[in-house]
Amino acid sequence: MFKRLALSTLVAAAALSGCSSLNTTPAPKVNNVIFMIGDGMGPAFITAHRYDRAGEPGRQVEPTIFDQLLVGMAATHPAEDTWVTDSAASATALASGVKSYNGAVGVDTDKLPVRTMLEQARKAGMHTGVVATSEVNHATPAGFVANVASRRMYEIIAEQYVNKRIADQSMLDLMIGGGQRYFPREEGGLAEQLAEQGFQQAWSLEEMTKLDALPAMALMSDRGMPFAIDTDTPKRLSLMTDKALELLDGQDKGFFLMVEGSQIDWCGHANDIRCALGEMQDFAKAVERAKAYVDDNPDTLLVITADHSTGGLTLGSQGEYAWLPTAVNQVSRTSSYIAEAMLAEPERSVASHWQDHAKMTLSESQLAAIEEARERQVAGEGRYTLSNAISKAVADNSYTGWTTSGHTAVDVTVMAYGPGAEQFAGYQDNTDIAKKLMGLMAR
Ligand SMILES: [Zn+2]
Repeated sequence: MFKRLALSTLVAAAALSGCSSLNTTPAPKVNNVIFMIGDGMGPAFITAHRYDRAGEPGRQVEPTIFDQLLVGMAATHPAEDTWVTDSAASATALASGVKSYNGAVGVDTDKLPVRTMLEQARKAGMHTGVVATSEVNHATPAGFVANVASRRMYEIIAEQYVNKRIADQSMLDLMIGGGQRYFPREEGGLAEQLAEQGFQQAWSLEEMTKLDALPAMALMSDRGMPFAIDTDTPKRLSLMTDKALELLDGQDKGFFLMVEGSQIDWCGHANDIRCALGEMQDFAKAVERAKAYVDDNPDTLLVITADHSTGGLTLGSQGEYAWLPTAVNQVSRTSSYIAEAMLAEPERSVASHWQDHAKMTLSESQLAAIEEARERQVAGEGRYTLSNAISKAVADNSYTGWTTSGHTAVDVTVMAYGPGAEQFAGYQDNTDIAKKLMGLMAR
């Protein structure tokens, strides 16, 4: 009775004061933020990962880590005359809450610098890090750290990673990824400047595992890292995420960490479903590591989304009611890896090469198409003629559909876990994700 009376009094008071909500829960305490971006990871990639794990149709389907943490969807369009964004405009939106043009890195439509959540974190005394399987200065991580008119300004972006100052501090305590070529190790080069700033340095995945204090950097390949399934360490991003969390853990004022599964996008551009499933497995494992960190550190908020979808991936093609991840998994390498092997030994038939890397049976006409593609590429026609022909055979035999070699405008999923996760529920614009995160991170 008392409770009901109290509630009705409260309702009356709320009505009188014009307050629209009875929710008086204090803002959640968010000490650390882990923001994970699957580049190009449209909804179909997440579905593909689920059925890839299940295998044969009819088997028990377990929710993936993405399914478990799903809370909403986001629109991704840029601020120009197309609904289809690139990674730079989307990274800028996700990092700052400001929509910009395709190619923009941390700048608005007037090419003026925007304030990103990583900058905000820095100003608040938080530790900061970026992890990516692309070059660390590629468009998505760059959108959080740098401010340049074009994503192609790789050298200037790298320079800003090293020398841009916020509140008298450099932008980053930690960078892990590829891109050695942009941080030269010669005298006076950016790598040497970072060493002078006290950065521990690693140049391979193995050296990375030995980093033991901040500031630290690991640049493990000349450009982007090799595709997950083309290496001995297909779970490289989860190792990198583990190391980042180990180094950032226990900071008084908390940390902001951005982790990108960069190459889901590259597999999408190549229309290579085997490549995409490998990158999704690695990214999923990295998300599982981040979720485990939140379980141990409940003042940490984990948000996961994509910047856009790539390739127009869909699961089902040619009028068949079928999609066969088991067929995809009969191939053990990316199409580009297999194509390189076929080009390196042109005297061997493509059929013989194929057997080195795949158990999938190809038809005579598919083998002929691949042989012909190899001849055309050797004759100078295109850089991807052969790998595209291989990707097409794998797609056709698994009923995988692709609509484009570019990006698409479909909405992307939003996953969140930890304090404030409920704020990301439902439909939102990608800029809203940034605004909510910046609000939750405000000190
Ligand atoms: Zn892309």
